[in-house]
Amino acid sequence: MRTTLIAGNWKMNTTLADAHTLALGVRDGVEHLDHIQVVLCPPTIWLTELAHEAIAPGRMPHLHLGAQNLYFEEKGAFTGETSPLMVKEVAEYTIVGHSERTHVFGETAELCNKKVKAAFAAGITPILCIGEDVQSETSKEELGKVLEVMIEGLTEDQLKQLVVAYEPVWAIGSGTPATPEYAQEICEHLRQWLTSDTHILYGGSANEENAKAFLQQSDVDGLLIGGVSLKLQPFLSVCTQANDLHISSY
Ligand code: PEP
Repeated sequence: MRTTLIAGNWKMNTTLADAHTLALGVRDGVEHLDHIQVVLCPPTIWLTELAHEAIAPGRMPHLHLGAQNLYFEEKGAFTGETSPLMVKEVAEYTIVGHSERTHVFGETAELCNKKVKAAFAAGITPILCIGEDVQSETSKEELGKVLEVMIEGLTEDQLKQLVVAYEPVWAIGSGTPATPEYAQEICEHLRQWLTSDTHILYGGSANEENAKAFLQQSDVDGLLIGGVSLKLQPFLSVCTQANDLHISSY
C-alpha cells in the first residue's frame, strides 16, 4: 500500500519570519500524523534556515523539506541556479517541471528529464509535475507522450521512487479543481508508464473541502497543494484527513 504524501508548494511567498512561523506550525500540527508523509517546499533561500531549525532532517521522520526547482549541473557558471548537490544538503525532495516553470520560464520536457536524473544522482526524490493546459479529448494521449520524454532512461528503481504530480494547468490556482473521478482517470492512465509503487499526486485547487474525495481515488496517492499550503489550519486539516483515511483503510 502506498503511503499518502501531502506536499505544500509555497511558491515565491513568505518572508523568512513567515516561513519560520508556518514551518513550526506545520511541524507541531503534523507531529502525531505519522501515517502520512508531509513535504514542505518553501522558497529555496529559506531552505537552509528551516533545515537547521524548524524542520531538521530526521527530527520527525514523516516531515520533509523539498526545493521548488533545481538545475541539472553539479556546479559551475550558471548564475542564479541551484545545484542538486546544494539542494541535497538541505532537502530530501524537489519539485521538477511545475507548470509555472514551463509557462513563465520556458522549461521543456527534455529539460525536466535532465533535472529528474540529476535529482536522483544526488539522492533527492523528484516530484515531477505534468498536466494539460486545456482539458480536451486528446489530453490523455498528450500527457502520455510528455511523460515518456520526462522519464526517458530512468531505471525501474527510480520509477518506483519517483513522485509524479498530475496537475491540470487549468485547475492550478483557479478555484476550479478537476473532479476526483477525472483525476483518477488520468492518474490511472499515467501509471501505465510508471509502477505500482510510484506515488501519483493530484494538484490544482485542492483544499480542505475536496481533499478527501481526491484521496479516496485508488490511483491518487496524495496531493500537491499551492495556495492552501500557505494557510496553516486548512493545510493541517488536509493532512489530518489524509492521516485518518489511511488509518481507516487498514
Ligand atoms: C500548484 O501550484 O502546484 C498548485 C496545485 O496550486 P493550487 O493548489 O493553488 O492550485
